Amino acid sequence: MRHILGLKCTVCGREYGIDDVEYVCPLHDNEGVLDVVYDYTAIGSDLSPTRMTGSADHSIWRYTPLLPVDAGVARRLATGTTLGGVGWTPLLPAPRLAGKLGLKHLWIKDDGREPTASFKDRASAIALVKAREQESRVVTTASTGNAAAALAGLGAAVGQSTIIFVPRTAPQAKVAQLLVFGATVLLVDGTYDEAFELCLEAAPEFGWYNRNTAYNPYMSEGKKTVAYEICEQLGSPARPLQAPDRIFVPVGDGCIIGGVHKGLRDLMALGWISQMPKLMGVQAAGSDALVSAWERGSNALDMQPIRAETIADSISAGLPRDRIKALAAVRESGGAYIRVSDAEILAAIPVLAQGCGVFAEPAAAAAYAGLVAAVERDLVGPDERIVVLATGSGLKDVAGAMKSVGQPHTIEPSLAAVRSVVQPAN
Ligand SMILES: *Cc1c(COP(=O)(O)O)cnc(C)c1O
Ligand SMILES: [Zn+2]
Repeated sequence: MRHILGLKCTVCGREYGIDDVEYVCPLHDNEGVLDVVYDYTAIGSDLSPTRMTGSADHSIWRYTPLLPVDAGVARRLATGTTLGGVGWTPLLPAPRLAGKLGLKHLWIKDDGREPTASFKDRASAIALVKAREQESRVVTTASTGNAAAALAGLGAAVGQSTIIFVPRTAPQAKVAQLLVFGATVLLVDGTYDEAFELCLEAAPEFGWYNRNTAYNPYMSEGKKTVAYEICEQLGSPARPLQAPDRIFVPVGDGCIIGGVHKGLRDLMALGWISQMPKLMGVQAAGSDALVSAWERGSNALDMQPIRAETIADSISAGLPRDRIKALAAVRESGGAYIRVSDAEILAAIPVLAQGCGVFAEPAAAAAYAGLVAAVERDLVGPDERIVVLATGSGLKDVAGAMKSVGQPHTIEPSLAAVRSVVQPAN
């Protein structure tokens, strides 16, 4: 991995060699989240935008030269397995939704179409390669559900054992995924935050490779691939990489928004895009620690845990684990944090589905609800090129979806009954 210079602590700025520390900066317990530092000169001399966008690999592995993995191990694991199908999800133009909002250019990045139906596949894929590099027998994570489903599902694809800690309240579809994929599932009678702490304690005790968000420094690196994809998918032959003006991201722990920022920072550092998009972090009103910190101008390290409660389970986080990167993403890009109520989130599910054909789980619909709120508050201009990250499929939480729509018509099996409900088309 000669393209990596080291790991830099986001708290104290100290840099470590890649083999000197495994997870966090030893000076700050679990808060010293590390950021991977790349040698952009070396990368830029091996790779160009034209070469990158010309790759025949339509998955995150087209970006291997920009990822912290052993290329050989990644290729071996990804070839012929589901791991090779992570990423390169569609960026769908949404003209009807744009029209409704008075916008001209709107796209939905549909990450519900990842192999295990959420954005988390991007990070778990990297964890599996890292675990294989060190020949770990077991990989563990705590999760509100999707990160675990991604780890279990992709782990099953490559024959990796997984042990998962999820809060007892995780939606059933996510727990079903874990069990079907053969993970050992520990349903923790507590919150996500408690499941997380327990997993952090257990991993070294039992000798497991630890995938936890904002603890394992490589998870943001997997998540950053979405930024590369968006810029590629908006590109043209004349300009192979083109950044949008604004990206709406649903935020729980803040690892996704931090990852999106990292991907864009990579492209800026390489000189491959000319402007940093404004990053818009969207949180549920019942889990809004980052919105409050942003409004108050607080330092990430001064944030206090809140009692998180929202229907959007994937963005429920009392003390966002990746708060340093998450606040920096919005502050440094000139974006904003926005809170949306559970009612606004639920209302966004059918609007998004009917306006562009994307069925999103509540956390993913929150990003769209954030765009609606931003338009209402005049935070976005009508000519801006806007991308909304739809981070997970609606099939992940059918009970949540059913709260957002009415009941179907129950009828007798007769034409008369059909006629009593619908009119002929002509
Ligand atoms: C995990 C997740 C998020 C939030 O990501 P963070 O990194 O925790 O901020 C949003 N949407 C979905 C569907 C997720 O699974
Ligand atoms: Zn440090």
